[in-house]
Order: sequence, then structure tokens, then C-alpha cells
Amino acid sequence: MLCALLAVAGGIAAQPGDFDRKLGEADALKSSDYPRFAAILTDVDAAKAELAPAQLQYLNYLKAWERGYAGDYEQAIPLYKAVISQSEDAVLQFRATASLVSNLTIARRYQEAYTYLDMLVERLPQTSNPQAREQGLHAAALLNIQAGQYDLGLDFSNRLLQERKGLRGECIARELRVESLYKSNRLDPEGEDVALALETCNSHGEVVFANIVRGYQAKARIDKGRYRDAITLLDASYEELQRTRYLRMVSEFDVLLANAHFNLGDLAKARAYALRSVDKRVPNEVTEPLVAAYQLLYRIAQQQGETKTALAYYEKYAEADKQHLDDVSARALAYQMARHQAIATKLQIEALNKQNQVLQLQQQLAGKAAETSRLYIALLIAGLLMLFLWAFHTKRRQLHFRHLSQHDGLTGIINRPHFIDVARRTLDDCRRSVRECSLILLDLDHFKTINDLHGHAAGDQVLKQVVAACSTYLRPNQLFGRIGGEEFAILLADCSAVRAMALAEQLRQAVAATSVGSGLPGVNISCSFGVVSSVTAGYELRQLLASADAALYQAKRDGRNQVVLYQGKQGALGAVLP
Ligand code: GH3
Ligand code: MG
Ligand code: MG
Repeated sequence: MLCALLAVAGGIAAQPGDFDRKLGEADALKSSDYPRFAAILTDVDAAKAELAPAQLQYLNYLKAWERGYAGDYEQAIPLYKAVISQSEDAVLQFRATASLVSNLTIARRYQEAYTYLDMLVERLPQTSNPQAREQGLHAAALLNIQAGQYDLGLDFSNRLLQERKGLRGECIARELRVESLYKSNRLDPEGEDVALALETCNSHGEVVFANIVRGYQAKARIDKGRYRDAITLLDASYEELQRTRYLRMVSEFDVLLANAHFNLGDLAKARAYALRSVDKRVPNEVTEPLVAAYQLLYRIAQQQGETKTALAYYEKYAEADKQHLDDVSARALAYQMARHQAIATKLQIEALNKQNQVLQLQQQLAGKAAETSRLYIALLIAGLLMLFLWAFHTKRRQLHFRHLSQHDGLTGIINRPHFIDVARRTLDDCRRSVRECSLILLDLDHFKTINDLHGHAAGDQVLKQVVAACSTYLRPNQLFGRIGGEEFAILLADCSAVRAMALAEQLRQAVAATSVGSGLPGVNISCSFGVVSSVTAGYELRQLLASADAALYQAKRDGRNQVVLYQGKQGALGAVLP
């Protein structure tokens, strides 16, 4: 197989220090100048003890590469794995993985190769180092071509081509493209793909890659029956190829030359090249050139009538061909298994994603439910608050209206209906507990005259002054109400006639005193008072009012501005103060 050139070159960014420089140089040279590469490696390896850990990993990586190049994959593979697990440099790890994939492919450990390829493809998007990407894409293209997935191989080589235009990676990409096209029977040996691949690889000094391309070109020419053209092509690069010591291609060129000469009838040359191909074979491997070489040797011997030799080669050919075919089917099988595994993993991941989505939806739902209940609670609180405010407001208005309905708008004391209501209840209480009550009735004297002389507003003012003057002498439990225009009543529970008389006298004097400072010069403000006790008039309000009114009337008749006590129907209205 021609495609199995190992990992490609490319340097890690040069670090300070002599070893870094040397390692970087070796890395850059490794596929273009193998002898120099090997020399530097030996040189650095001798001073291994002086290397820093990162440098040691870099050296191990290059040593692994060297082993792989020499065809010693069994040694190269564990070395790469050690670098992958021990290195802390993500770029070196990625490169080691890429090289490992190539080595596992050549060592026919296809399934393992696919496992590492999956890792590689997964890490590709996060890998930005151009050289590392080049190696990764190269390994991916190579393994897919090996497994017969030529279109996938073409995809990876096209990506590589896009990313590495004008660089050494373009040569690799174009070589892989030629390989994919040849293997899928689409290669035109004189077409643009071959020409561009050769031009790019030559301009970058990539002798091995250029000769791999030439190998496919020669094969395609042979397939078309153009044997002489194939020989010319192979002869021209023959010596150059020998110097690379790359056995895969060396044996390939020999068997292609053998094939072309055989088809031209030159059996001697054909045999010589075929034997050379067997001689230069890759050790311990059944490669395609080896199968082809045995087949040719068998056919040459057969044509020359050497039946015994022919049979011996035929046996070798049959055995090699079987092994090779087994190998081809193992690659295809490994690919299928790897894809199945990948699909299974993908399905698992999708199932997990779905579960995740369900969980997320459940969480969102729970969140929404909590949000909704919070909203309900807030709404409820707001509703309750509004209800409370409404009730509070209504109550206040109710109280306000009740106050308005029970009080006199001008003086602020209780009005007649409310006075009657409360007075009746108080009198009932007193009657039940047999307590004495008294009632004082007072009426402004010649009030009409004040109105007439000074106006209604002045009269209102006087009414207010009189109420204010009386209120100062009254306690809260003594019921004071306006029961007529300029007529007032005071109900006194637990109060004898004597005390009521005394209080009435105090009030009379207080009212009289308002004359001074009333704002109405020359106006005498005074009230006449009628006082009655439950002892003489009973607890009936109507009776008490009538009796007090009689006493008041008496006071008016007697000259006003005085207090008269009602003392019963028969008797005179009694004591008159003063
Ligand atoms: P007397 O000493 O006999 O009681 O004479 P008087 O003028 O006070 O009695 P009268 O009953 O003749 O007149 C009462 C007046 O009181 C008539 C009315 O216009 C006036 N009056 C009644 N209510 C109000 C009121 O709210 N404001 C004012 N300014 N005057 C009122
Ligand atoms: Mg009156
Ligand atoms: Mg009056």
C-alpha cells in the first residue's frame, strides 16, 4: 500500500533554548531530510538527562515517529500512547494521536485506529495549531481511504487543501486526492489533479509524496495499456526514490516496472524487477506490491515453462493474496464497526439529550407553577388589601355621614333627633337604677333682634360663641344638644336639681360674659334657663322637656337672663336664680 506514509512534519512553536531549537529543526526536517533528522535525534537523545519534561515528551514523540518511519510500529505505538497520556501540551497530544492513528492503520489494528480517529475528529474543532490540524486531517483522510471510504477521504483531503493552500500541507492534500481518485477508478493520469499534486510536492521538496503521486500516475497509465509511458515515468524518478529509503514506495515502483515490462513482453526485466520488489519488501507485512510481485513471478515462470517454479510462486501468491484480502475486509469491517459504535453513541447521547430536555421542561414547568402561585398570592394580597381599603373607606364615610346626621352643622354639638335618642336611653337607664336626672333648657334672649340688627351671619356667630362658652363647663357625659333654632338642652345623669341649678347659673354667667368681645358692640348676649329634675317630672323625656320649657317660659316672663327651677304642677315654678 502506497498511502501509508506516516505522520507529517510540522513544528511546535520554537521555544528558547538549544534543545528546543534542535527538536524543532528535527521535526521540520523529518520527512524531507531523514538522515539529518535521525542525526539530530541521536544527538539530543544523548543529552536526554538535561531535558525539561516538555522537551522530553517532544523528543519521545519524534522517537516514536522515527520508529514508525522505520516500519517498527509495535514500538512506535506504545511510545505515542505514552506521549498522549503524559504530555501536558494539548497540541503535542493531538499530533501524537494523529500519528498513532496512522501507525495503527499500517499495523492493521483498524478498530483501535478508528477509536483514536474518533477522538481526533472530536478534538479537531478546538485545535487551532495549523500543523496539528494538518496532521489530524491527514490521518483522518488516510484511514478512510484505507477502509475504502473514498468520498470521506476526499472530504478530509479537500478540507486539508483549503486550510493549507500554498503550504506543504497542500502537497499532502493533493496526494491524498490523487489516491482517493485512483482507488475509486476516477483518476486521469494526465489530468490536472496529478499535475497540481506533482507541482506542489516538488515545490516543497516533498520527494516521498511526489513519488507516491507518480506511483498512482504510473498505475493509471498501466491500467490504460500505456506501458512505455509508465516505464519512462518510473525510470525518471527511480534513483531519487531509492535515496528516500521508503520501502513501501521502493517495492511499489519495482513491481510497477515489472508489470509494465511483462506486458511489453520483456520477461527478463519483469522478473528482475519483481524479484527486487520482493527483496525490498516491507518486513513482516503483506502489502499490495508483494501480492502483485508473486503473481507476476508466477506468470513469468508459467510463460517460460518453469512449471515447478510457477507452482511455488503461485502458492506464495495465493497465500499473500488471501492475507491481503483478509486485511482489506478487516479494514472495511473495522470501519463498519466504528460507524455502528459511533451511531450507537450518538443515539445514546440523543436519548440523554432528550431526557435532559424533558427534565429542563419539567423544571421550567415547576418554575412556572411557582411563579403562577406567587402571582396568585400577590393578587390575593392585593385583592385583600383593596377590600380592606374599601371597607375602611366605606366605614369612614359611614362614620362621617352618621356624624353629619347626628350633629348640628353650625355649632358642632348633637342635633335634636340624636339628642332625643340618646336622652331617652339615658333616662331609661336612670329610671331602672333609680338615679336622679336633671334637664336644663336654655334659649337666647331677644335673638331675633340680634339677627335683625346685625344680620344672620352675626347671629350664627353668636350661636357658636354661646355653645363654646357653655361647653367649657360641661363634661363629656353631660348631653348637650341644639334642639331648636336658638334653643339648647342639657341632660345631666346622676344629678340633683340643686347641682343642676348651680350648673345652669354658671352657664348663664358664662353666656352673659360673651357679650364683651363678641364683636357686636352694645349687644347684650344672654340666655334664659329652665331647670327640671326627674324627681318632680319623672323620667319621660317629653314630660321633662315640657316642664323645663315651662320654667324657661317663666324665666322669660320674669325678665330673661335668669334660671328658673320647675317644681311641680301645683306649686309656683320655684326658685329663681338670681
Ligand atoms: P325671646 O327672648 O322671647 O326668645 O325672643 P327671641 O327673639 O329670641 O325669640 P323668637 O322666637 O321671636 O326669635 C327667634 C329667632 O331666632 C328667629 C329666628 O330667625 C332666629 N333663628 C333661629 N335659628 C337661627 C339660626 O340658625 N341663625 C340665626 N342667625 N338666627 C336664627
Ligand atoms: Mg326660642
Ligand atoms: Mg329666644
